[in-house]
Amino acid sequence: AAEEGFDLEDVEGAIEAAGHGPLPVLAVVGRPNVGKSTLVNRIIGRREAVVEDKPGVTRDRVTYEAEWAGRRFKVVDTGGWEQDVLGIDASVAAQAEYAIEAADAVVFVVDAKVGATDTDEAVVRLLRKAGKPVVLAANKVDGPSGEADAAYLWSLGLGEPHPVSALHGRGTGDMLDAVLEALPEAPEQTFGTAIGGPRRIALIGRPNVGKSSLLNKVAGEERVVVNELAGTTRDPVDELIELGGVTWKFVDTAGIRKRVHLQQGADYYASLRTAAAVEKAEVAVILIDASESISVQDQRIVTMAVEAGRAMVIAYNKWDTLDEERRYYLEREIETEFGQVAWAPRVNVSARTGRHMEKLVPAIETALAGWETRVPTGRLNAFLGELVSAHPHPIRGGKQPRILFGTQAGTKPPRFVLFASGFIEAGYRRFIERRLREEFGFEGTPIHISVRVRE
Ligand code: GDP
Ligand code: GDP
Repeated sequence: AAEEGFDLEDVEGAIEAAGHGPLPVLAVVGRPNVGKSTLVNRIIGRREAVVEDKPGVTRDRVTYEAEWAGRRFKVVDTGGWEQDVLGIDASVAAQAEYAIEAADAVVFVVDAKVGATDTDEAVVRLLRKAGKPVVLAANKVDGPSGEADAAYLWSLGLGEPHPVSALHGRGTGDMLDAVLEALPEAPEQTFGTAIGGPRRIALIGRPNVGKSSLLNKVAGEERVVVNELAGTTRDPVDELIELGGVTWKFVDTAGIRKRVHLQQGADYYASLRTAAAVEKAEVAVILIDASESISVQDQRIVTMAVEAGRAMVIAYNKWDTLDEERRYYLEREIETEFGQVAWAPRVNVSARTGRHMEKLVPAIETALAGWETRVPTGRLNAFLGELVSAHPHPIRGGKQPRILFGTQAGTKPPRFVLFASGFIEAGYRRFIERRLREEFGFEGTPIHISVRVRE
């Protein structure tokens, strides 16, 4: 490496940084109006005003990437929860429960000006039960005079209240230091094979695509409920289901089975639940209703799984209802709408008739194998060397940036670091990704490529 102009420390640092697997997840929970969204914006450094006065605003995304003191993590924003759907206590509890379930640590936000309410106490009980590390944020302490209000929150029994002003930023740095202490370096939720447990599947898709039908079909009588957290409105439940002679863990199936009809906030609720399930899973099986046009919501769900870095299978359901014309248009839609994830194994199924159920497991296994693929450095560099000489980067400003060498820094999903002599354009990066896939497979998995340029 040294003779290529990179010093060893840079190279090792870059590999270390890229090699980190899934990021730890921080959930921000609390009653409506305590300032969760404002705090999340502060944490992720978002400038635009996204705090809405209207409750129940539909949001596309509920997880964001953040960085503090050089460490990256994800933040789950529960601020968009519609408060009056289930009654305030139930909705706060449900919202918190989902977020906590998916999280490695929790920031519990209390309005210091109001003090602890009964709803706050209810969330404290949930937090105790979940046993995740908690950082208590006493919000709306906009100046020194509010510090005394914050001190009252010792009474919650969650340790030191961190006085903050989400609005003005006061105290948030100290709070984030505490967050970093609470978050594991790498997520605690160890990945499947590492601990020898069953592989985890999230069965996701927009309402009515057939998730519960499919789950019932594959589960038959085999199903075992393994993790029931009783007592609140929405219990995340993982079920062990045997398929193709192997036991799989379908995560968060309660949300699938209990068809909750929420008038408002339903989209938001669905996306929070989907995000939580995806975070817990290794592979996402995305169910699409093939009888209808592929929708924006379908695409968002696919994007969520890709951004989370999970293995992915796309199952087109309700195949029994398709006529020749619909089949024709479906293929066109798949090309245009899902071109970016053409690498995902595809199965055409019918939860009603059982068509092609037996193809689901091989597809999932293929995706997981792609997700775990590791290319030895020697092979990778032989491949890169050939690629670069056969298809050099276009000349820019009289110079020709070159990929000098590369390594795979991690798996689940595969992450590569390439070291280059100059800026590598997006088009050329995509070309490299395409060729990597042709050469090494990576079926069913997103791959990350980062490029370090020699200074
Ligand atoms: P959420 O429902 O918990 O997500 O709360 P929001 O983030 O939407 O905030 C509710 C209201 O409290 C908004 O009007 C915010 O501007 C206000 N707010 C949030 N943080 C602070 C703060 O630190 N100080 C003050 N004074 N107001 C705040
Ligand atoms: P979920 O909201 O995604 O869990 O969807 P459901 O499993 O509740 O299914 C929604 C509707 O689609 C129900 O009326 C199902 O009977 C129907 N459905 C599900 N799968 C199929 C299928 O493969 N073929 C047909 N024709 N209908 C299906």
